[in-house]
Amino acid sequence: MITLSNLTKTFGLGPGLVRALDGVSLEVAEGEIFGVVGQSGAGKSTLIRSVNLLERPDSGTVTVAGQELTAVTDAQLRLARRKIGMVFQHFNLLTSRSVRGNVEFALEVVGLERRERRRRADEILDLVGLTDKADAFANQLSGGQKQRVGIARALAAEPSVLLSDEATSALDPETTRSILDLVRTINRQLGLTVLLITHEMDVVKTICDSAALLERGRIVEQGPLVELISRPGSRLARELFPLGELPETTGTVIEITFSGGSADRPVIAQLARTYGLDVSILGAVIETIGGTQAGRTRLELPGTPEQNAAPIADLRAQGLLVEIAGEAR
Ligand code: ADP
Ligand code: MG
Repeated sequence: MITLSNLTKTFGLGPGLVRALDGVSLEVAEGEIFGVVGQSGAGKSTLIRSVNLLERPDSGTVTVAGQELTAVTDAQLRLARRKIGMVFQHFNLLTSRSVRGNVEFALEVVGLERRERRRRADEILDLVGLTDKADAFANQLSGGQKQRVGIARALAAEPSVLLSDEATSALDPETTRSILDLVRTINRQLGLTVLLITHEMDVVKTICDSAALLERGRIVEQGPLVELISRPGSRLARELFPLGELPETTGTVIEITFSGGSADRPVIAQLARTYGLDVSILGAVIETIGGTQAGRTRLELPGTPEQNAAPIADLRAQGLLVEIAGEAR
């Protein structure tokens, strides 16, 4: 649905030059929720703004719904943008207009006639749960309600793609949760493809099907979450399942990643029984990701990695991802 190919974008000149995008390629499938995570300054906003060419990349191509936006005329681009809704961290609502007026404004731009605008606005306000606030103004709304208006406005012209730039970053955890639920609902109900950027791993965990990690303008990793989890050395998986600092060990520390069916196997008991190992559990996290149980367990086994070769091979033979995280020094 969205294909970014080799995007570059620099700001400034000489010693002040910043490579905001440094060869970014990304593929977002139709109907999925794709999250791009990265620290502040990583280039996330530049990336998402380049999807509808609010930010024009220096080189590379942007294709949305089969149309290469980097190759079309300005008039064609204006049309294409109607099919791409966008929500922002700070809502960007018109303060002089009511909630309904904000949504209707997006439809004026599209050229819908008045009665139709009103009908469509009320329909979309119902979808986002704001019917009773239709006549209120932005300063009478909570942050979560403001973002619902932002979402309603973005959806007004029936886009096929929704872009979200840190839409929940200004909201408290509970409100964040309700906005994410709403995004998930409209994704499912309307078949909307969602590209969101965030610095919060929790957002990814809660609603994303796929994710990418952006670092200094480069995509370090990307893929479906269920796949990332079982990818050896995945940094996204590590951040999704943080086990904290690795402690000193006198033996061997291993980390086992579970997903799907392997999540409920009694691995530790089995190790103890089969190999007579005195296994210590150093940490564990289990989450539901994309509807399946997944997690990581950090264990300490006595002895060197070589001495534990047989049990480790046994775990791997069961299809578990086992990484040696530490050993005695
Ligand atoms: P993020 O959204 O991940 O915090 P941004 O995409 O906003 O990152 O910014 C990436 C880098 O590009 C930063 O170093 C930022 O200062 C720089 N940058 C972004 N927009 C501009 C601009 N319009 N002019 C100059 N520098 C910019
Ligand atoms: Mg940003």
